[in-house]
Amino acid sequence: MSEIALDVKDRNEMLARFVRYVQVDTQSDENSTTSPSTEKQKGLSRMLAEELRALGCADAAMDQWGYVFATVPSNLPATHPAAGKAPTIGLIAHVDTYQGTLGGGVKPQVIERYDGRDLVLPGDPRQVIAFDANPNLARCKGHTIITSDGTTLLGADDKAGVAEIMTVVAWLARHPEFEHGPIRIGFTTDEEVGRGTEHFDVAAFGAAYAYTLDGSDVAEIEDETFCADSATVTIDGHDVHPGYAKGKLVNAVRVGAAIVERLEREFLPETTEDRQPYLHPYDARGDVTKLEIKFLVRAFADDELKQREEALRRAVAEVKELFPGARIAVEIRESYRNMAYKIAGDPRVVDYAFEAVRRLGLEPVRRAIRGGTDGARLSFMGLLTPNIWAGGQNFHSVQEWVSLEWMAKAAECVLHLLGIWVERSA
Ligand SMILES: [Zn+2]
Repeated sequence: MSEIALDVKDRNEMLARFVRYVQVDTQSDENSTTSPSTEKQKGLSRMLAEELRALGCADAAMDQWGYVFATVPSNLPATHPAAGKAPTIGLIAHVDTYQGTLGGGVKPQVIERYDGRDLVLPGDPRQVIAFDANPNLARCKGHTIITSDGTTLLGADDKAGVAEIMTVVAWLARHPEFEHGPIRIGFTTDEEVGRGTEHFDVAAFGAAYAYTLDGSDVAEIEDETFCADSATVTIDGHDVHPGYAKGKLVNAVRVGAAIVERLEREFLPETTEDRQPYLHPYDARGDVTKLEIKFLVRAFADDELKQREEALRRAVAEVKELFPGARIAVEIRESYRNMAYKIAGDPRVVDYAFEAVRRLGLEPVRRAIRGGTDGARLSFMGLLTPNIWAGGQNFHSVQEWVSLEWMAKAAECVLHLLGIWVERSA
């Protein structure tokens, strides 16, 4: 049994991979209707398929959506008690980056043995990753830190996850004595525009359980997401020449304002955090005759979600009485659900991840995401997929940074996890 640890060579190779990947522009585009939303994402996908083949994954290939699937076959000898029983484990990361911040022409800066100073970014010295404003920098003294030059994002979200998974595959190729079950690799496109699982064929992927490596701090395992619905309130007023409108005009704009005014202040995104739910009016368009207001409804539990929706319906009912001439319709649509509901049915997928973190000598931190993930959608498509940290900080910003040591820990966590699945299947 080999010791599970990346050595200097493994780390250097991981750094080289990460630096190589972030220099490929893979921004996705929410206004595009094609799949992938931008053709350039395939540039990285193609590179990854090639590198996977070079590492021995003979079936590694990119499909028309830009997804890369590959297999690392089990190396358990037929006599091993877990042979044929260890489940296929999927490892997933996304290749695309956020579109709101410049993502092409990334010039990665590698700072070795970080000493606790403020990081002034050389391409735009006004951009300073300040030690005081970034509490995690204190946890990364002595680490290798990677930033952009301050004019673009870095793309650690999620190329850190991609580089970690590639490093796991390379480590396994170098350590044939380490026994593991079947592994499936999945690199996806368009996660940042919410379409990361649109073409994900769970059956073809063929994993029994999967993990995304995306975001967050060392030792964090995320097994909860919001339950999310969207609501649309459509108001039909009645327009009359305003000079002769007395007793006749029904102004949809005022009706809409009255509804928004009635929303409880303690349940807005700007007044909530942690596990608190919210109802968020985020878009209103129209005129005196017709107004449409869009809402996001978010909560960790289904009943809390329903309570927010009831609050909206109550506000609408009250306003209807004030404006009897207005027609007001409420339409609610389901977006996604908390993956914890699914994971509760087979909690080993998270328990083993916690055990893997402990074997690194770290205390696992369970986190709930105030958002949705590809893993949440996959969990409801039948593939339980909690998230393991990838290490990136200050996502979607030109001040994005990542610690190479936290990336190495993520790769080592995955290796421990693979070992635990074999142990527990024997
Ligand atoms: Zn991400």
